[in-house]
Formats: sequence, structure tokens, C-alpha cells
Amino acid sequence: MGFDTSGLLPLSDALQGMLEQLACCCDSEQQPLPEALGRVLASDIASPLAVPPFDNSAMDGYAVRLADLASGTPLIMAGKAFAGQPYQGEWPAGHCVRIMTGAPVPAGTDAVVMQEETQADGDRITFLAQPEPGQNIRRAGSDIGKGACVLPAGTRLTPREMPLLASLGVATVTVRRPLKVAIFSTGDELKPVGTPLAHGDIYDSNRYGVRAMLARMGCDCLDLGIIPDDPAQLRAAFIRADEEADVLITTGGVSVGEADFTKQLLDELGEIGFWKLAIKPGKPFAFGRLPRAWFFGLPGNPVSAMVTFDQLVQPALAKLAGQRFERPLQLQAIAAEPLKKSPGRLDFQRGVMSQGPNGLEVRSTGSQDSAVFSSLSRANCYIVLERERGRVAAGETVTVEPFGGLLL
Ligand code: AMP
Ligand code: MG
Repeated sequence: MGFDTSGLLPLSDALQGMLEQLACCCDSEQQPLPEALGRVLASDIASPLAVPPFDNSAMDGYAVRLADLASGTPLIMAGKAFAGQPYQGEWPAGHCVRIMTGAPVPAGTDAVVMQEETQADGDRITFLAQPEPGQNIRRAGSDIGKGACVLPAGTRLTPREMPLLASLGVATVTVRRPLKVAIFSTGDELKPVGTPLAHGDIYDSNRYGVRAMLARMGCDCLDLGIIPDDPAQLRAAFIRADEEADVLITTGGVSVGEADFTKQLLDELGEIGFWKLAIKPGKPFAFGRLPRAWFFGLPGNPVSAMVTFDQLVQPALAKLAGQRFERPLQLQAIAAEPLKKSPGRLDFQRGVMSQGPNGLEVRSTGSQDSAVFSSLSRANCYIVLERERGRVAAGETVTVEPFGGLLL
């Protein structure tokens, strides 16, 4: 058996070829902090403040001067400092100041001694341990210096960035407008969910996967529905998408079957590269441009559509949206069972990784046919098998790629 796979394009070449042509196409706009969640920063955020803004106590305890402790006699409490209510009274020699976490330390403080290391007898405080200079004091600017770049342009704002921005007093940020992506599914056999199926029909599942991944990426989606395998209707859908969106993503119709009109239409309307990629699943894939919009044609098989979106379209959309994209983490794991594989393509098999007695191990989710959706829905990672690798025996080391944000 075996096809000639020598003419297939490696994934890395396809990615590089696309990314070289793409640049951010989204203008910037101002958004108030809560609404900016999920948006991409258009410029660096420089801290307008030092954080913390003043020296403050990391503990509930007592602010002391080391010289006052030298004699070993108890100190008298001069007063109290609370968060939001600094101590403003006198601080005579031989005294300490009761201080709570977050309160500014009074001028002259050398250290804060935690309450648990003291004994109080009314206002007389005995110190059980000699503090180190600076102990339990959070210094002004020790977290973030004033003017420091806290978040670079291209950062997508997640729940982790929101409190950080708020801590700096940032009320409004400059973000990119969302990328607008038109989508449709092609195929005479496709019916929308909620309608009955005639013999030979199937439900259009790809559009739900693509929509969900676009939502995760923060894109605006223009869903043009299901377009039959009819050149006139396809042409109209391509033209509408090109007029209204930055990007068009279709699924199906990119193979070599007699109802695969996508290539023909795109040759007519734009400039399209059709690639046969050296990956499995996901061999047929199209990329190119319409007069205005960029085009990505995903294979019709549902698993192939998801995997090619995740691996190829995601980094491309990130670039168009002005978002930094980091390659997903890859780890080494032990194959807990044999894995079928023929040399010639880079496989993204679907697997379940778990912690075994000897470290990370991985099992296949079963049939790896690109039409078998359970292979993806039951998985938590890809098992990435190198192009020239053949069958994998149990116990061999393989590369796994935990599913990233799009698939979780
Ligand atoms: P195609 O690339 O159009 O030849 O489609 C390949 C396979 O994927 C065929 O079995 C199609 O029925 C199936 N397929 C195409 N589009 C979808 C879709 N939107 N949802 C589910 N299956 C699809
Ligand atoms: Mg089709």
C-alpha cells in the first residue's frame, strides 16, 4: 500500500507561507476596562504608577527601628497604622507602632515584626526574635516600577490581566477592533440542526465547531449558513463575504470530487493556493485572497476541519487580529499502547494523556478516521507523530500537545 506523499507540503512551510503574507488589518479603538476583556492590546501598557505605590507592611505586627531593639527591653506601642489610615503621630525612641497588612510603614521603620513573634502586655511589647533589616516591608515599586512595560502590544486580555490593569488605575485601553470572519459550509447533503434529515443527508456540524473556535479567539462571526454545491450560489456567497468581512472560512468542497467547486470559483474571483498538506488529518487545504478578504478553505471532514483550524488558521487569524501567538506546548510521553501510523505525513492523532507510574503516558482515542468525531471529543491532546515515523510500539516515547484554548 502507500500513496506517493513526496509532493505534499510540510505544515511548517504552509504556516510560514501564510504568515509571511499576512499583517494586522484591525484598527485600534478605546475600550473601558471591563469591556476590553478578550480584546487585543494595540499598544504597550506602561505603568503610570509604582506598585506598590508606597512602602507598606506585609504582615500584621509591629513597625520597629532596629536601634530601639538593641537594649532588649520591651517597646511601648505609640499608636496604630491601618491600611488606608497611616500612622501620623509622634514616634519617640523606645516605641513601636502597631501595624496591619497593607498599611504604609511610618517614616524611619527598619522592619515589621510579625505579631506571632511578639508578646503584648498592655502597651508593652516584647520582641522574641531579632528582625532582619527590611523584614516584612513591601517596598514601593518592588512589583512594578513606574513607566515599566507591564503588557506588550498584542496581548489578548484575559481575566489575569484585568486586575493587573485595575491595580495600575488604568480605566481605558487601546485595543484592536475584532477581526470580522465570514463562514459558510458547502455541500448539498448538509442540513441545519433542528430540521429532519432525508436519506443521504447529514447535519452540518463544521459550522458549529468553526463558530465556537472563532468565539474563543474573540472574532466577530458573519455566519452565511449552508451553501449548496451550486456555482451561482457559491459565487454570491463569496462576493458577500468579501464585501463584508476581513476573512472568509469555508468547509468542504476543497477536494477533487465532482461537486468541489471552490477551486474553480476562487480562480475566477481571487488568487488561491490549493495545497495538499503533509499532515493527517487535513490533507486538502486552501489559502489565498479574494479582492478584499483573506480566504481559508478547510476540508469537509469534521475532524480535519477542526484540526486544520487549530493548527493553521488560528495562528493566521491571530496575526490578522494583531495578537501575539505562541506555539503550543509540546511534551514527551510514553505510548501506553501501540499506535498505527504510516510514514509520509505528520500525524495529529487524538489521544488521552494521563499521569502514569513512570511519568506522562498517552493512549489513542480509537479510530483515527477523520470522519470519526469521537476521536476528538474524547481526547485531551494531540499525539504528534513525525512525518517519516512508522508504527509506534508500546513503551516508545512520543510527542504530545495538550489541547490549547481553542479546544478546551
Ligand atoms: P468534501 O470536502 O466536501 O468532499 O467533504 C468531505 C466529507 O466531509 C464528506 O463526507 C462530507 O459529507 C463531510 N462534510 C462536509 N462538510 C461538512 C459539514 N459542514 N459538516 C459535517 N460533515 C461535512
Ligand atoms: Mg462537499
